[in-house]
Amino acid sequence: MTPEPRGRKAPRGGHRYVIQKHAARRLHYDLRLELDGVMKSWAITRAPSLDPNEKRLAVHVEDHPIEYNAFEGTIPQGEYGGGTVMIWDRGRWGPDGDPHRGYKKGHLIFTLEGEKLRGRWHLVRMHGRGGEKKEPWLLIKDKDDEARNPDDPDILEEKPLSVVSGRSIPEIAEGKGRKRVWHSNRSVKDNVTGGATKADASVRRASTSKTSAKASTQSG
Ligand code: MN
Repeated sequence: MTPEPRGRKAPRGGHRYVIQKHAARRLHYDLRLELDGVMKSWAITRAPSLDPNEKRLAVHVEDHPIEYNAFEGTIPQGEYGGGTVMIWDRGRWGPDGDPHRGYKKGHLIFTLEGEKLRGRWHLVRMHGRGGEKKEPWLLIKDKDDEARNPDDPDILEEKPLSVVSGRSIPEIAEGKGRKRVWHSNRSVKDNVTGGATKADASVRRASTSKTSAKASTQSG
């Protein structure tokens, strides 16, 4: 079996990638990689690092629908994931070799072509454990040209804002520019099409005239 070349580019129209910064009960970064029509998801508790020596805990959580990638806004308190969601990075990912095999084995090697994160990365399941509901994995930057040293600037401080709207978490929380709500206890269809609440609609009407150009590029 011939492995695919290292550091290959993510294929056009291939696999979607997104990281949503999620200010919930505890702040974390949700890494999502498209595979087999869903977004495989890991909650990075201390955020990704470009320093290959920084191994970051990545708790494997439930698959998310692809439609959720375009969501930036708030999830009501009391619902699953209640809090504020920012699209922190997005783009494409390309696996090294067979991603199904890597996923099953507990070692995914892949290249990110995001607006913030690039280069090769590793997701490694800890202790070879499998089958647990919330498996602990580690997210580790590969030692390539995109890697940084501990003394280099931290990407989190360098680029803290949303890649779709340029907003901060507090700005998204207060609905600046555009207010969106995702109800995690409703279906994807209801959220994407008819799920807007009355409060949503009135805010949208009120803010239509002053919606920034950046915010209006957001899809979904
Ligand atoms: Mn989350």
